[in-house]
Amino acid sequence: MEILDGKRVSNDIKDEIAEAVKKMKDNGEKVPHLAAVIVGNDGASLTYVGSKVRACKRVGFESTLIQLPNTTSEVELLKTIAELNENPDIDGFIVQLPLPDQIDTQKVIMAIDPNKDVDGFHPTNFGKMALDMSTFIPATPFGNLELLERYNIETQGKRTVVVGRSHSVGRPMSILMGRKGFPGNCTVTQAHSRTKNIEDVIAEADIVISALGIPQFIKADMVKEGAVVIDVGITRVPDETKEKGYYITGDVDYENVSKKASYITPVPGGVGPMTIAMLLKNTLLARERHGAELT
Ligand code: NAP
Repeated sequence: MEILDGKRVSNDIKDEIAEAVKKMKDNGEKVPHLAAVIVGNDGASLTYVGSKVRACKRVGFESTLIQLPNTTSEVELLKTIAELNENPDIDGFIVQLPLPDQIDTQKVIMAIDPNKDVDGFHPTNFGKMALDMSTFIPATPFGNLELLERYNIETQGKRTVVVGRSHSVGRPMSILMGRKGFPGNCTVTQAHSRTKNIEDVIAEADIVISALGIPQFIKADMVKEGAVVIDVGITRVPDETKEKGYYITGDVDYENVSKKASYITPVPGGVGPMTIAMLLKNTLLARERHGAELT
């Protein structure tokens, strides 16, 4: 069994991005600028946004964090988005999800300029991704592809089961694994909460990608010997014995599944750090595109 070390690979990617930024600086070019909007003060969301901003610093990007109160109206948030769309200094921006109940998430995603949509959630970008066109691929699925590619894991003709069909992870992941090329060319099954006999479906998979958010859902007896297992799940489980009052775990019973898997991602240290690295990669791409438009 080999661990898919997202921490190490994400650091490699950040080093590559930092090198590209250094070249931009040396050439007197503008460096990429990422903005992140967060509404409210959800602990996990603040942690994620904080990590994204810190990662920008690490690679030499400029970053702007816009923190809005939990009571922000939809109109106010749409106004902030319109300003970011218009601001030529901002190459890309994200709106951290989930949003408070008074705000329609779909409306917000639709308001983002697709050329600045580095999360890849806008229907224009999602459609381009599904049609094999060059675009921003949502960061978490993009990170999974990158792990498969950098560990040179054969995907062609493999049976892949993606558990979960969220718009940000499961759905794009299943489309990407079925695309022509590498990584891709898989025979994909998309499983979800209504899937019957899900244990049997998962047991047939050469590659299991789990994005459901239920701790330890995937047990060793569900997984084929030698399967590749990618665990996207991140759940905070309350635990008073821990300093933070919780511990982080994934969807996979790592201890036992790792004994059967050929490759497996740990949680933490697998998919999570890759997500941030790929957001940076999308932002670099946005900058390069904007730069090319101006020349
Ligand atoms: P989500 O929007 O809640 O979607 C969960 C999916 O799991 C849904 O499609 C749901 O099916 C399915 N599901 C729920 N219970 C199930 C069951 N018993 N059997 C089979 N399928 C079931 O979640 P998400 O945003 O995709 O996130 C999933 C997990 O990944 C969470 O733990 C989240 O924190 C984590 N995550 C991690 C990263 C990272 O960077 N590592 C990034 C994003 C998310 P239905 O569609 O039928 O309801």
